[in-house]
Amino acid sequence: KLVSREFKNEDTVIDVGGVLVGGPHIVVMAGPCAVESREQLLESARIVKEAGAQFLRGGAYKPRTSPYSFQGLEEKGLEMLAEARSLHGLKIVTEVVDIESVPVVGAYADVLQIGARNMQNFQLLKAVGKSGMPVLLKRGIAATINEWLHAAEYIMSEGNFNVMFCERGIRTFEEYTRNTLDLSAVAALKNLSHLPVIVDPSHGTGLWKLVRPMAKAAVAGGADGLMIEVHPNPAEALSDGNQSLTPANYQALMSEVAAVARAV
Ligand code: PEP
Ligand code: MN
Repeated sequence: KLVSREFKNEDTVIDVGGVLVGGPHIVVMAGPCAVESREQLLESARIVKEAGAQFLRGGAYKPRTSPYSFQGLEEKGLEMLAEARSLHGLKIVTEVVDIESVPVVGAYADVLQIGARNMQNFQLLKAVGKSGMPVLLKRGIAATINEWLHAAEYIMSEGNFNVMFCERGIRTFEEYTRNTLDLSAVAALKNLSHLPVIVDPSHGTGLWKLVRPMAKAAVAGGADGLMIEVHPNPAEALSDGNQSLTPANYQALMSEVAAVARAV
């Protein structure tokens, strides 16, 4: 299989407009769960850029558990992401939830995010494969590593090798955390595949207090990068406020992670 170390032994490095994912340096993708307003997004972008992120994250199309929850600003949100990119020189990673919106999201984003709920939406995987754009493939909420590898294979089989995995926690019997962050998946994927692996301790735990320690653990365990939710005012976030870091906590995370990265 194309995803496997047997097919390609040397690590894949994805060049996202000059930012290398899977190279010698850890990359950080940070920002709010959702694009909520121009002010919120530009403030978030300034905060994450200042502390050293390479990518701004933020959903304009949100896959929410309830249809009555905030669903995202759609193309207006994409325009705000593009403005933040040009103001701050950040790359944009944002979710695409269906085949129909691959062209519009692709027109604004640098990396297309496939959310956990769509990891086995095979038609969508083929569509992002055909786009040729870098793809961040989140692990399904109840997906095995083998199923996740097959999902990446769907994208690669369309000729698109620019795929990065993102561990974001899985459902277990534990209910203290929102999900159980499976850090063993990082080492497992590194053995099985040549593709880069990103860790998202925000969705992986659901609790902001656990994000900093798990981010450090992920980097110590060989992750190629982190995805971190940050909000100028988490108490007022329209989604995922409980797991979003304040600007001060995010800055602390960045210096702690840098120290771990130097040590490994
Ligand atoms: C997100 O990144 O905001 C998101 C919805 O993630 P996941 O698909 O991992 O739940
Ligand atoms: Mn979120």
